[in-house]
Amino acid sequence: MITFYPGPSKLYPQIESFLTDAYRSGLLSMNHRSKPFMEMLGKTIAVLKEKLLVPDAYEVVFTSSATECWEIVAQSLTPHKSFHLYNGAFGEKWSDYAGRIHGRTVNIPYNLNEQPGTVFPDHGDRDLLCLTQTETSNGTAVDNLSLQAVRSTFKGLVAVDATSGMAGVSLPWETADIWFASVQKCFGLPSGLAVMILSPRAVEASDEVGEKLHYNSLPFVIENFRKLQTPYTPNILGIYLLNRLMSTLDPIDLVSRKLENRSLMLYQFLEQHGFSPLVENSAVRSHTVVAVQDSKENVAAVKAFALSKHIMLGNGYGQWKESAFRIANFPAITDPEVSALKECLLAFKNS
Ligand SMILES: *Cc1c(COP(=O)(O)O)cnc(C)c1O
Repeated sequence: MITFYPGPSKLYPQIESFLTDAYRSGLLSMNHRSKPFMEMLGKTIAVLKEKLLVPDAYEVVFTSSATECWEIVAQSLTPHKSFHLYNGAFGEKWSDYAGRIHGRTVNIPYNLNEQPGTVFPDHGDRDLLCLTQTETSNGTAVDNLSLQAVRSTFKGLVAVDATSGMAGVSLPWETADIWFASVQKCFGLPSGLAVMILSPRAVEASDEVGEKLHYNSLPFVIENFRKLQTPYTPNILGIYLLNRLMSTLDPIDLVSRKLENRSLMLYQFLEQHGFSPLVENSAVRSHTVVAVQDSKENVAAVKAFALSKHIMLGNGYGQWKESAFRIANFPAITDPEVSALKECLLAFKNS
């Protein structure tokens, strides 16, 4: 079976042997306060920063999920209001969580076929801006120019959910203060771990706000990771796999270029053969998650046809649950697998 599900998604094949190595290393039965674990944690952060080209001054911590990161940002970095720029289900869900935690959210929805705007009413430097770099639910992405534009107009911290982008696209780190992603999407790793990357300004703000009510309050998390410790027993296996995997990957600029080309070819293929990308404006299409819209009947038929050829397409999400299907174009997926998908889609059109 080849899976194009956008999360949990296809694992890199090297994970299989890394799992055995992890067992044999003894690390999984070792105290997480021990030296071997601390060394492994330090190396993982170093190789992650190296391969993803993260600026030296930015700090990396690990959490359990992107959802946990939404919560951390809401509880520990929002002394005033949070502004939520979104055009899809994940961005909206983030706002819902923040609303339940602090009740001071301002929603700024934008259209599917547009980049987010840069007009932010009534805000100051203690406000937070939240946006979703790759909206996994509908296959849109915020491009680097828009991120820069947001950065230069918004006075407060900028937080970016890059769950379906990080490790697949080159991210302009300097345009935001908080970046996070869970690893079961573009990283091609098993779920249960998330990466959070913080600018010096975000670290400062975390100290200044000084929120210390929760096991995952950001000041505790940062303080622990600086000592190569964690506030709770971490996902040691997940961190081990991340470490091993990152050391086998190309630098992100290379990965990103390949993926972008492959996605452009995929969109072109789809349009040439009578499939309609959900996102019409090619400038806002994601390179990592491709959504295709059709009637309920056709979506069900193409998914069933693909399954009969041992190919798993992703369901639509939210309002497009039944009227779209999604194709992950993540780096763990190989070119021959994408070719097999194209053949399958052609055969479906001719059937
Ligand atoms: C998958 C996804 C999430 C949720 O990730 P969890 O690891 O389940 O918390 C959040 N945001 C985006 C953009 C996603 O694609």
